[in-house]
Amino acid sequence: AKAGGRGRVEVFDESLRRQLHDRAQLEQAIRDGLPAGEFVLYYQPVVDMTTAALQGYEALLRWERPGRGLVMPDAFIPTAEQSTLICHLGRWVLDEATREFAHWLEEGEIGAEDDLTVAVNISGRHLASASIVADVKNALLAANLRPERLVLEITETVLLDEPAAAPHLRALRELGVRISIDDFGTGYTSIGQLQYLNADTLKIDKSLVASSRPGAVELVELVVRAAHAFGLNVIAEGVERQDQVPALQRVGCDSAQGYLFSRPQATMGAHPSAADPQLS
Ligand code: C2E
Ligand code: CA
Ligand code: CA
Ligand code: CA
Repeated sequence: AKAGGRGRVEVFDESLRRQLHDRAQLEQAIRDGLPAGEFVLYYQPVVDMTTAALQGYEALLRWERPGRGLVMPDAFIPTAEQSTLICHLGRWVLDEATREFAHWLEEGEIGAEDDLTVAVNISGRHLASASIVADVKNALLAANLRPERLVLEITETVLLDEPAAAPHLRALRELGVRISIDDFGTGYTSIGQLQYLNADTLKIDKSLVASSRPGAVELVELVVRAAHAFGLNVIAEGVERQDQVPALQRVGCDSAQGYLFSRPQATMGAHPSAADPQLS
């Protein structure tokens, strides 16, 4: 092998070039895959923590990429977020989730008293874009869905990362859609800041829900109490095992989501939970 610094620089250049090339290719494949119908939504139920009654669904994006199988969002969302591509994906997700949810409601296997919701994940970049309010309005209109039925999941740091998102968030609240703070416990938001976030729901991240470190349960309890004091409902994410349930109930978590109840599935309804958890 050639020795010396010059060789290393060339290797570095080559790997950087390859990275840029791969990224450009992935972007193009996403761009082409959207109109080609390669993206699909999976739905995971959110249930009442004490009765396991269905409260709604979270829509989770999947890519049926030809020749590559089912591609998970962690493999393409970060790249999409590097450009306005994430806004195109986000628009499609809003349209598709509201359309499928409205259709499922119309099929009417659920009671009239229900106030089930559908939640979609919104990237900071899309929330900060000029089109977000129109995108949400259009989706609701096209699906003929009441705004209260739609939950927008945003991460706790979005307003720090994207200051331009703040007025959009206010406009969306005025529209009547619900706001959920996602992945709480992974960023740097202090509990006291919850009062300014002006959301409806707080989702405690699965890393905190699953933690067995000393003090983890107490921390969850503190978060739940603060959230309740500020009028937020609390969902525990990533609940995988029956033995996690009693502690989450004890500290007052309102709702749960996780493999224990159901994995994300390609359709709404028909979510037979393998474990058939007995909650109370
Ligand atoms: P997230 O919003 O925190 O979504 C929850 C993730 O946890 C999902 O992964 C879900 O399948 C997984 N999960 C659910 N229950 C359990 C459990 O009991 N145990 C474990 N270990 N995991 C569980 P998924 O579908 O791979 O999505 C990963 C992330 O990709 C999401 O995290 C979200 O940040 C992002 N994402 C997904 N769909 C969209 C989308 O339509 N738009 C945007 N912007 N981001 C999306
Ligand atoms: Ca989410
Ligand atoms: Ca989450
Ligand atoms: Ca996450």
